[in-house]
Amino acid sequence: MIDFELTENQIAVRDMARDVTEKVIKPTIQEYDRAHKPHPDLLPAMAKANLLGFCIPEKYGGLGTDYISLGLACEELEYGDTSARVVLSVHIGLYALPVLTWANEEQKQKYLVPIARGEKIGSFGLTEPAAGSDAVGIQTTAVKGGNDWILNGEKMWISLADLADYFLIFAWTDLDKKAKRDHSGLSAFIVEREWQGVSTGKIPGKLGVRAGNTGFIAMQDVRVPGENLVYEEGQGFKVAMFCLDQGRYTVAAGSCGLIKACRDASVEYAKQRETFQKPIADHQLVKQMIANMEAGYEYSSYLWMKAGWLKNQGMRSTKATSLAKWIACREAEKAAADAVQVFGAYGFSDEYPVERFYRNSKGASIYEGTREIHTLMQADYALGYRVDKQLERDLPKTDQ
Ligand SMILES: Cc1cc2nc3c(=O)[nH]c(=O)nc-3n(C[C@H](O)[C@H](O)[C@H](O)COP(=O)(O)OP(=O)(O)OC[C@H]3O[C@@H](n4cnc5c(N)ncnc54)[C@H](O)[C@@H]3O)c2cc1C
Repeated sequence: MIDFELTENQIAVRDMARDVTEKVIKPTIQEYDRAHKPHPDLLPAMAKANLLGFCIPEKYGGLGTDYISLGLACEELEYGDTSARVVLSVHIGLYALPVLTWANEEQKQKYLVPIARGEKIGSFGLTEPAAGSDAVGIQTTAVKGGNDWILNGEKMWISLADLADYFLIFAWTDLDKKAKRDHSGLSAFIVEREWQGVSTGKIPGKLGVRAGNTGFIAMQDVRVPGENLVYEEGQGFKVAMFCLDQGRYTVAAGSCGLIKACRDASVEYAKQRETFQKPIADHQLVKQMIANMEAGYEYSSYLWMKAGWLKNQGMRSTKATSLAKWIACREAEKAAADAVQVFGAYGFSDEYPVERFYRNSKGASIYEGTREIHTLMQADYALGYRVDKQLERDLPKTDQ
């Protein structure tokens, strides 16, 4: 049975993340957001608080927490700024948890232990200039060259592209299957930033997540050792979809932090701003916007917690995770738009944080499965066109 009461461990972890938000992110984030620069103190602070080893067993250098704790930390970090939550989404959700689940023991020692200890940063490269939602439309290839694979291609819109040390990269290893768009020709590889032929760069002029690093990874004749193939040749699509299940979960929980930030800012402002000789908080139409934020936060929280509970039980959570991500992002977009409205003209200025919340809220309805893709997924579950079978490998059960 789902129990919404947090354990002592979950509260302790949530408080560690809250501390980073209050002490590191909130006081200075606006400056870095304005400058389109990652906050220089964020990764060191997260590493110091052991936040970069979430859900990874202690034997691999991690924090050994459960998946609800990961969600709580995402919520706390995004309360400060979306860019901070993105670090956990990518480093843990899209990289570390998949490596824990699909990589072999040797790969885990080399490519998971330093990640879990916060000594190295992981990232995920699926999207390309001409393919996002349509993952089998990617063009990157991996061709055998002796014991190595030779990778060529470009990944686009990659979070932490300029900051990460290791990339989980998806490429076609079967060119006949590429021509037929048969996803059993895709494979996953771990690629190191320092290897010859790898270069990265930043995407300028972003609407939101300006204090986050988003960029491209170009690969030109990159020699990847055979032992860096993750799981089995031709199983990359399965690994990629698994990555998204974990990343989407963190986005759902993080979006609740954004809704809460919008609600708290709106409540504070609405109580002190007066029109027609009373606080705007006492006008019913303003109350309506605040009530919607409250409701959106509550039901979006239940959805990600249900997904987290399934993960804790070692049960597949694809449907629950997709639903949580879709709804929480939708509610965050609405809450952020209403927060700007509550602030009136001041909401239109970066003197207050709500314009940043508004810009940041948009991205989450695009990355990790667009709003439309999740809508279609939920319709397909309801129509019986889509059924989740237990995966051959899934996240390890946790003790909480
Ligand atoms: C800030 C940010 C960070 C990101 N980080 C990463 C990352 O770390 N790693 C990574 O690999 N990718 C990353 N992405 C890329 C992201 O996952 C893709 O942008 C996303 O999958 C959508 O792909 P697209 O942008 O190519 O849009 P498209 O797939 O071209 O879609 C364009 C529009 O068409 C709609 N559409 C597409 N297909 C259908 C359909 N079948 N039915 C109805 N509507 C449809 C979409 O919903 C969308 O509205 C990031 C993106 C952003 C903005």
